[in-house]
Amino acid sequence: MSRPTPMRMVVDDRPLACVVCSGDTFTKRNVTMITSGAANTGFNKVADAVVCSSCGFIHHFVAGVVTPLTEG
Ligand SMILES: [Zn+2]
Repeated sequence: MSRPTPMRMVVDDRPLACVVCSGDTFTKRNVTMITSGAANTGFNKVADAVVCSSCGFIHHFVAGVVTPLTEG
């Protein structure tokens, strides 16, 4: 099982920094939020989760908002 490579992330053209440790590298994974208690509110959708590679804090975003920073 390979681990994803930590990468810098960008949210709306702003570099993402961890709210806990200010780390700037994250690993990204797709999660499906099942919010059965809010079935009719439109919140049942795929979300992106990026995990701080320093402290492990999970940042959740609506899918497509957070993108890996491509350098060069
Ligand atoms: Zn962190």
